Amino acid sequence: MSDTQLLICGTAFTQEERDRLGAAHPALFVGGPDEMGSLDEGLRAGIRAVAFKGHTPFGGEAMDLLPQLGVIANFGVGYDAIDVTAASARNIKVTNTPDVLSDDVADLAVALMLAQARTMILGHAQAASGRWATEGAIPLNRKVSGSTVGIVGLGRIGREIADRLAAFKMDIHYTSRSEKETPGWTYHGDVVSLAKAVDFLVIALVGGPETKGHVSREAIEALGPRGVVVNISRGSTIDEGALLDALEARTIAGAGLDVFENEPNLDPRFQKLDNVVLQPHQGSGTVETRTDMAVLQLDNVSAFLAGRDLLTPVN
Ligand code: NAP
Repeated sequence: MSDTQLLICGTAFTQEERDRLGAAHPALFVGGPDEMGSLDEGLRAGIRAVAFKGHTPFGGEAMDLLPQLGVIANFGVGYDAIDVTAASARNIKVTNTPDVLSDDVADLAVALMLAQARTMILGHAQAASGRWATEGAIPLNRKVSGSTVGIVGLGRIGREIADRLAAFKMDIHYTSRSEKETPGWTYHGDVVSLAKAVDFLVIALVGGPETKGHVSREAIEALGPRGVVVNISRGSTIDEGALLDALEARTIAGAGLDVFENEPNLDPRFQKLDNVVLQPHQGSGTVETRTDMAVLQLDNVSAFLAGRDLLTPVN
């Protein structure tokens, strides 16, 4: 059996992130959970911790290839790629990286809202191309401050988004599984009722099977012709086909999206739309926050290998 106890798993890791983990603990590397079997059995037998990054499903079959595995430390707050039920059944702990990324993701949600409503993509093209001088100003667009917003999922990130939008003098509505202590904000028991009441609908739910299609066709229709969807959660949390139908038919006004059902291979229908602002899942993608996430992931791995309490356990 090998002395190496850490396995770094995922092509999504940057070299710097791999080096940080490797400097703290001797480590092996595989490209993803589906490549676990390519490691020699003797090497697999020594692995007690996996540092994981990416969206490739990590299920019980891959876990069974690591008989001493005790922790999967996820890079990211969303751990929907990991089968936590399968991990718990094998007495494997899962950790994630909450809080340290909430500000960045909330910032991006606000940016998507502003960019969509203020037609900033069109405005940039007009200024950068020289058409401003030859064709004049772009059409008037849409006021954001003072309008009504609905947050779907008032968790850590949803709360940060709502706090920012409150400073934009917006009327805050939200839905969650339970009502929160939020004086002045309006709680809705379901997403259709929320969508009916607001102009902007911002999705900040967890991903995974339980929230799949949570923002349904009915909810998208309820939003109406001035409605704008912003999604920084997971592509799975909204009925993407229904969203594309509504954007094409202009039964809603537009969308600002950081996440997609089949990312990074977007549905080609997105390419033809002029009422969307699209980002390549970069909500937490700042140098500062990715460093904080990497450090928290490493701290969880180190705590486990030293027999100390995990910092941010999920199960
Ligand atoms: P969080 O604090 O756990 O909040 C999650 C929200 O989802 C809560 O409001 C929760 O409702 C709701 N929820 C959970 N399970 C649900 C269910 N079965 N049905 C309905 N609602 C449910 O998580 P967070 O830190 O805010 O992160 C939220 C998500 O953002 C992550 O899971 C991840 O998918 C996504 N994310 C995206 C990026 C990006 O780059 N775009 C970066 C980081 C995170 P309650 O309030 O009732 O508990």
